This record gives sequence, structure tokens and C-alpha cells, in this order.
Amino acid sequence: MRKPMVAGNWKMNGTSDSVKELIAGIKEGMDSVNNAQVVVCPPAVFIPRVSGAIDGSAIQLGSQNVCDEDSGAFTGEVSGAMLKEIGCEYAIIGHSERRALYGESDELVAKRFAAARRNGLKPIFCIGETLQERESGVTNDVCSRQIDAVIALEGVEALADSVIAYEPVWAIGTGKTATPEQAQEVHAFIRGKIAALNADVAEGLQILYGGSMNPANAKELIGQPDIDGGLIGGASLKPADFLAICQAAG
Ligand code: PEP
Repeated sequence: MRKPMVAGNWKMNGTSDSVKELIAGIKEGMDSVNNAQVVVCPPAVFIPRVSGAIDGSAIQLGSQNVCDEDSGAFTGEVSGAMLKEIGCEYAIIGHSERRALYGESDELVAKRFAAARRNGLKPIFCIGETLQERESGVTNDVCSRQIDAVIALEGVEALADSVIAYEPVWAIGTGKTATPEQAQEVHAFIRGKIAALNADVAEGLQILYGGSMNPANAKELIGQPDIDGGLIGGASLKPADFLAICQAAG
């Protein structure tokens, strides 16, 4: 039985004070969360502060990216070892904003995925199609291509200690959510694709949905057989909304 996961992607938001308030609010409400695994991914500079604040709670910590290299002349980057040292267990890899705004290719994303694992971080590996791709009927092809880049570099077994987040680009931050049926169809495709290579890995793999998930739509989305939780952007910045999604996940 796969455990549901709800991960909050705080993106580039917050100040020392607002981050303190946000994590305190989430921590305070954790008693109301029964079963879901809860992960927060703050901006890198706030990770140490959040790490201290979640001490003694069940909340887990993730980064929003990882450098594909381990150390050296890579100005502006943060290595897997650094993130691990400050308390991260997870790392978002291949978010569509990284792919679209910072030109991260499938190959670079795969290298970052490998760097996360090599440093003991579990990737939350993001895939998903643009609106144009969905309208052209190539959603499964796009997801397949993005997954294949990781499998080519790391092998399908690498997905055993990873999480996949299916995030249709047209649903991220737009208020347009995929219907439960649309999301389930892609999740089932992803699981089936992986099952064809390794049934055990596919069975245990947490596949999250991301894209304007909120307290009103979370239960129905997460209730789908192949949807194992959510990667949450906007709603993860409001403790009450984030906790309501965690509760909806079980
Ligand atoms: C995200 O950025 O991963 C995301 C799902 O954002 P939002 O929930 O705001 O659509």
C-alpha cells in the first residue's frame, strides 16, 4: 500500500518572518493529519531555519533543485551534499519552471536527478505537458520522453527511491486543474510504462499530481487509484489550505 504524500513547493516566496509563521502554522496543525507524508520545500536560504523549526515533528524537508555537479566553479548553484547537510531528504527535480524559464533539458534534468540520488536525496521528479502538447495529443509521448531520459542515465530501479510528480504545465499556477479523470489517465499511463520494465518499482512508486490543487479538489484527485498525493504550489503558502490538502490525502 503506497503512503500518500503532500509536498509544498514554496517557490521563491517569503521572508524570514513569513517563513517562520508559515512553518509554525503547518507544524501546529500536524495533529490533524492522519496518514499523509508531509514535505515542505522552502527557498534554499530558508532551509536551515525551517529545518530547526520542524525538529521533533513529522514534517520532512526538500529543496527546489540540486546542481548536477558535486562541487567547484558553478556560481549560483547548490550541491546535493550541501542540501543533505542542512537537513533535506527530498529534492524537486525538473520542475516545469526550471525547464521553461531556465532551459533545463531532459538530459540536464536527468543529471540533476542522478546528483540528488548520489548525495542521498530522494528526487521528486516533475514531468508534464504544455497546453499545446495536450491539444496536439502528445501528452503521453512527452511524459514518456521525460521519464526515458532519467531511465537511460540511472536505470528504472532508480525510481524505487524516488517520487514522480505529474504536473500538466497548463495547470500550474493557473487555477485550471486537470479533472480527476484526465489526471488518473496520465498517472495510469506512467505507472503502466514503468510496470512494463519493473512491476515492483511501479507498484511502490508514489506518483503525485500537481497543478492548482486546493482544498476543494484535493480529495477527488487523490482518491483516484494511481494518484498518491500532490505537489502543491500556491496553496502550500497558506497553512490552513495546505493542512486541508494533507487531511484530504488521508
Ligand atoms: C507547482 O508549482 O508545482 C504547482 C503545482 O503550483 P500550483 O499548485 O500553484 O499550481
